[in-house]
Amino acid sequence: MRIVVVSAEVSPWAKTGGLGDVCGALPKALAGRGHLVTTVSPRYKNYPDAWDTGVRARFHLFGMDHEVGFHHCQDEAGAHHIFVDHPSYQRPGIYGDSSGAYGDNLFRFALLSRAAIEAAARVPLNGECVGEDVVFHINDWHTALLPLYLKAIYQPAGRFLRAATVLGLHNLGHHGTSAAHTFAGLDVSARWWPALDFGGNLNVLKTGLTLADKLVAVSPTYAREITDNLGFGLEGMLAARRGDLVGILNGIDATWDPATDPHIAANYTPEDLSGKLLCKTALQRRMGLAVRPDTPLFGVVARLDHQKGIDLISELTPWLVRQEVQLVVLGSGSRELSEFFRGLSANVPRQVGAHIGFDEALAHQIEAGADAFLMPSRFEPCGLNQLYSMRYGTPPIVHATGGLADTVETWSPATGRGTGWAFRPLSVEALREAIGWALYTYRKHPDAWQAIQLNGMRRDSSWNQSALRYEAVYRAALGE
Ligand code: ADP
Repeated sequence: MRIVVVSAEVSPWAKTGGLGDVCGALPKALAGRGHLVTTVSPRYKNYPDAWDTGVRARFHLFGMDHEVGFHHCQDEAGAHHIFVDHPSYQRPGIYGDSSGAYGDNLFRFALLSRAAIEAAARVPLNGECVGEDVVFHINDWHTALLPLYLKAIYQPAGRFLRAATVLGLHNLGHHGTSAAHTFAGLDVSARWWPALDFGGNLNVLKTGLTLADKLVAVSPTYAREITDNLGFGLEGMLAARRGDLVGILNGIDATWDPATDPHIAANYTPEDLSGKLLCKTALQRRMGLAVRPDTPLFGVVARLDHQKGIDLISELTPWLVRQEVQLVVLGSGSRELSEFFRGLSANVPRQVGAHIGFDEALAHQIEAGADAFLMPSRFEPCGLNQLYSMRYGTPPIVHATGGLADTVETWSPATGRGTGWAFRPLSVEALREAIGWALYTYRKHPDAWQAIQLNGMRRDSSWNQSALRYEAVYRAALGE
C-alpha cells in the first residue's frame, strides 16, 4: 500500500505528546512490513537530516497565494518524511507560545492539509512519487480538513479518485474551533459549510469525522467512551459512525527499551534488574533528593493539563510526604500546578523534585529510576507513559479510563497476574487507596513487587500487532 501519514507532530522532529510518538513510530512499523509510507508534517525549524527537494506548490488560502517547499529524508526503517516549508511554521512553539495558541493555526494547518495532498502527487521519494492511489492517515483536528480538500477541490477535477482517508483520533478535547466567518479563508465552495458547521461555529474535527472513510481511536475503550460521554459534544456524530470506528492501541518505539536506552545511568533487562537501582540513585542525585535505595520513589511525566489529573496528586501530597516516599515530577503546562510543584520541592527538597519544562532525557530517567509511576488521567485516549513504565519495570498506578484501562491490569496476589494498579472512580480517595496497595506490596512483599515488574517488562507493547490492525483499516478504507 501507499500510505501518507499527515500530522502536526512527527517524533523525533516535533513532539509535544503521544501524537508525535505515534506518527514517528507507526510509519516505521509499516515501512518494515513493505509498504511505501511517508509522513508529511511542518518544517518547524531547520532539520539537518532533511534536504530541499526543490518542489514548490502554491495555494490560495485566506485571500492570498502562499508558496510552500518540501524537504525530505528517510529513516533507518525505510519510512520517508516530508517537511512542508513555510514561514508560518518557524516559530518557538508548535501550536502557540506563552501568550496562548497562535491566532493563525487554522491557516497553518489548512495549509498543511493541502500541501500533504500535493506532496503525494509531486514530491519524489528516491525518484518515485507516492501518487494518487493512496491512503491518507490524518490525525486529530490539525489535518482533518484533508478529506474536505480531496472532495471539494481534487476529486471534482478527476484527481485522487481512488484515494482513501483514515482519521486518527488521539484526543477529542481539541476540535479546532473558530468563528464562522473564518470559513471564507478555506477556499472551498459555500456548499461545504454544513460539514464544518457545529452550533454556528467552524469545527475542523467535525469535518474529518463526517468526511473521512474510516475512524481510528487510539484504544478500544476510548473508541467506546467517545461515542458515550467523552466526545466533547461530538458523541452523537461518532455514534452515527460506529460502523466505521475502531480502537487500535498504540505500540511503543524501540527507543523506549531499558536494555539499550542511552539516556539512563545503567541498562537492564528482565533477566537482570540490577541496573535499575543505579538508575534510581542517579535520579535521586539529579533531582537533589535524599539518596536512599529503600525509599519508594514515584514518578510523574505529563503535560500539566486538567486532562492528566495531576491536581489529584497535588491534593495528595501532604499524605504522600507523611508516607516517607519520594516524588519526581516532570511536566509543563498549567502555571498553577508548575508553581505548586516548584514550591513543594523547595519545601521538602529531599522528598520532592520538580522539573518544569520539556526534557526527553529526564523522561527516560524517570521511567527507569522511579519505583512506580502515577497517571490519574481524567480521560486518556491511549497513553504512552504507562506503557513505557511497564517496559521499564516501574509499575503504573492509573485511573481505569481509555487506553489505561486497556493496558494496565491490577495486580492480583491470588493469580500472580497484573502489571500495576488501575483504580476507579476518579477520586483522591481511590488514588490514595491504589498508592496504599502499591506501598504495602513494595515494602512488605518484595517478591510480589518483582513479579509485577517482570509482568510489565514482558508485556508485548510492540507496534507489530497494531500495524497489522492499521493495515486492515487502510484496506477497508480503500474498499479492498
Ligand atoms: P499525551 O499525548 O496526552 O501528552 P501520552 O502519555 O500519550 O500523553 O504521551 C506523552 C508523551 O510525551 C510521552 O512520550 C512522554 O514521555 C512525553 N512527555 C510529556 N511531557 C513531557 C515533558 N515535560 N518532558 C519530556 N517528555 C514529556
